[in-house]
Amino acid sequence: MKRCFIFSDRDGTINKDENYYLGSDPEWRAQVEFLPGVVEGIKTINALLQSFFYILTNQSGVALTGGQLDNLNLERMHEVNKFIISELIRMGAQVDGYYACPYVDSNYATAAAQKGQVVDTQFIVDGHADIKPATGMIEKALAAAQAVKGDSEIFVIGDRANDVQMALNIGGTGILVQSPKTKELGDVEKVQAMSGKVFIASDFLTAANYIKKSFNLK
Ligand SMILES: [Mg+2]
Repeated sequence: MKRCFIFSDRDGTINKDENYYLGSDPEWRAQVEFLPGVVEGIKTINALLQSFFYILTNQSGVALTGGQLDNLNLERMHEVNKFIISELIRMGAQVDGYYACPYVDSNYATAAAQKGQVVDTQFIVDGHADIKPATGMIEKALAAAQAVKGDSEIFVIGDRANDVQMALNIGGTGILVQSPKTKELGDVEKVQAMSGKVFIASDFLTAANYIKKSFNLK
């Protein structure tokens, strides 16, 4: 039987994303709010035979500096991920691990500078394997689980077109869930234009049920 690896984006997919660069505010724990259907959806995924669930997140806020953003360093990035996972586990939703990437590329840095943001140059890396839609974080998770791509079923859930593209880039299925950012940035249309295994869901639970249905068909 194939093993099923389900990867989920974090901000805007698991927890509410209000452009606050989670971890930068000293009271960041109070900003962690799980989106509707997430806990139940992860439990649905956990119940699938041979399934593994990971969170994959690009944390560009680590690369940004100035004011409260200085609080969001690598250590804080890991602290936030561990806190989110411990809260999910406390509610009965199991998470097998997470991978987080603090790097941005020079296009991001240029756009950030135009918005008046300051980027710490040590975090600017073009072509970094862990910047979505590149698949480095998925490959790391598969390698750690001693899984082989062809022998595994791969799904990615996320609120941005880049999350869906990452799934397609590794030969998996991409599932878009819709956050305010998805709509604001026109990502529904971008995903509709993609060719490959994609599904557009209204929320995380719908995404999880889609995976359950697809997996049962195998
Ligand atoms: Mg997101």
